[in-house]
Parts: sequence; C-alpha cells; structure tokens
Amino acid sequence: MARQAHAEKAWASVERFYHNCAIKTTGKKGYPKFKKEETRASLEYKTCGYKLSEDRKFITFTDGFKAGTFKLWGSRDLHYYQLDQIKRVRVVRRADGYYVQFCIDHTREEKKELTGKNIGLDVGLTHFYTDSDGNKIENPRFLRKDEKKLKRLSRQLSKKKKGSKNRTKARNKLGRAHLKVTLRADLRSTRRRNDWVCKEAQRVIQSNDLVAVENLQVRNMVKNHNLAKSINDAAWYKFRVWLEYFGSIYGVPVIAVNPQYTSQNCSSCGQVVKKSLSQRTHTCSCGCTLDRDHNAGKNILQSALKHLSTTLGHKESNVSGETDLCLTRETELDKPTRRKRKASA
Ligand SMILES: [Zn+2]
Repeated sequence: MARQAHAEKAWASVERFYHNCAIKTTGKKGYPKFKKEETRASLEYKTCGYKLSEDRKFITFTDGFKAGTFKLWGSRDLHYYQLDQIKRVRVVRRADGYYVQFCIDHTREEKKELTGKNIGLDVGLTHFYTDSDGNKIENPRFLRKDEKKLKRLSRQLSKKKKGSKNRTKARNKLGRAHLKVTLRADLRSTRRRNDWVCKEAQRVIQSNDLVAVENLQVRNMVKNHNLAKSINDAAWYKFRVWLEYFGSIYGVPVIAVNPQYTSQNCSSCGQVVKKSLSQRTHTCSCGCTLDRDHNAGKNILQSALKHLSTTLGHKESNVSGETDLCLTRETELDKPTRRKRKASA
C-alpha cells in the first residue's frame, strides 16, 4: 500500500504537469521531479503497515522496514475518531524531526449567524491586509525578527565549504528556521505564524457572509529574491488556503478575483486613475479620495460581486496553485476508489 501511495503521488504530479500545460498556466508548469530525500522524505500508509496501541499514544510500524514503536506527541486526541475513519497515515520528515499525519475522513461543519457584511481584502507589504471598509491589519511583529534571522543563517551557510560537515549543520539550522518562518509545517501549536494566520482567517470568515480576495499567483511570488516580500507572500498564501478551508466549513463563499487594475481603478466611478507604487492615496476627479489600499479593497469586493452575479449557477473553483491541506487532496484521491468498491460489492 505504501508503494501504491507513492505511485499515485507520482502519477498525480505527472497529471498536474500535463494539466498545467494544457491550460497554459503562466510561469512554471511544474515539471515532475524527485524530492530531495534528505530534506522532505515522506511515506504513506493506507490501512495496513501500522498499528495504534490500545490507548492510541503509540504507533508501531509493522511493515518490512522494522522501524519499531514510536510515542505520539501532539495536541490532537485520536480517541475522538473511529479507527476506520483513518484513511491515510503519512510519515513526514521535517528539518526538526519526524511527524506522522493522520488523514481522517470527517466532515467538519460549523454554524454561523448571518452578519450581513461582505468584505474585500487587499494585501500589501506595509500591512498584512486592508479591507473594503478601510480597516488595516498590521503584520505581526515577529515577521521582522524572522527576516533578520533567516538572513544571518543563509549568510553563514554560504560561507561554509561545500560537502563539509559544517555546511550540513548550517543547512539544518537554516532549514529549521525556515520551518518556523515560511509556514511549511502543519503542526499548528509550534508554528506560530501559521497559528496567527489561521486564527485571522477564521475571524474574517466568522464575521462576514462573503469574502473577496485577489487571485494572486503565489507560486511565482514566493521565489522572489526580496526576503521581506517572500515571507509576506508565503503568509498570504497560507492565509488564503485557511480562508478557503474555513469558508467551506462555515458556508461563507471566498471569491478570488483578477488582481489587474484593482489599485488603479476608482471604486466610486470606475475611471482609471494611474498611480505609481509610492503613491499611497487615491484621488479621482469624481471627488473620491481614499487610501490606496482601501480603494483596492473596495474594487476587489465589487468585482467579486459582479463575478458572482454573472456566473450564478455555475459553480467555479478558483483555487490556484497547490494546497498543503490534506483534506482537499484526500477527497480527490478517495472518491474514485470508493465508488469502485461499492460497484464491486
Ligand atoms: Zn472616481
């Protein structure tokens, strides 16, 4: 089954590449490549090859690798779920240790009161986002600190001789710092930025009936050389993933709109008002004077509502790039096999 899972993953990446070519995505198409074993190795089990102890605090791997028994650390209680709800068990190696992820077949739904509010969010470097009501959410203070730390560690790495032990050590150090900073990891409690972003996303979803965001191509943005920007992009990307996740749980539509002209057009009369990046206020001949980001937020909300009214009835998924949430992947993978099983029975 572990081999099967690997084959499925490989096939999925080949398929994704062809799909990206077919729809002619801008930028890289994601040509399949092998993962670097030393940094991001993973192994997946379905229903066999592992065994949970009676109290569900230990996991034993029973396949040919003889890895043995491990104590499980973490904040989630596995007793909450039935054993047959566990569809996948994934062992992942991260820079600071080994993690086991349980993919659980469980539909989470939450009730939410209608608030009568719609919101459009504009992201920026100076603030985490500005909404269509003009409220600004500051970047959390630890962003700056992280930036400094990453800079120092990557400088140290570049000074070490290639192939030396010290280089390996420096690389591991940098890897661990990156885990904290770029939000790659999934364990919420120890990953403070993901934690912050997740809570912020939940707050936004809970207090609105519709959320409009820019459809930014984050996959290309993260490779930016400007460190402050790349950190911000990573956080924004994660924020977007959480927004969509909470949106589906609370039944709040999250609409991604084309980011073109959102900052140039006037939100009150629609006229194009050209401005440079440094120009922070939007002043239009119609008499509309707004903060630049506030104006953009309004435009984003307006074009989302327009989009909604024209495509009503056509359900369109607007998710760009890849998502780290195993939930979305799981449903994709599980559906065909489940149907098959039912048919044969
Ligand atoms: Zn105007």
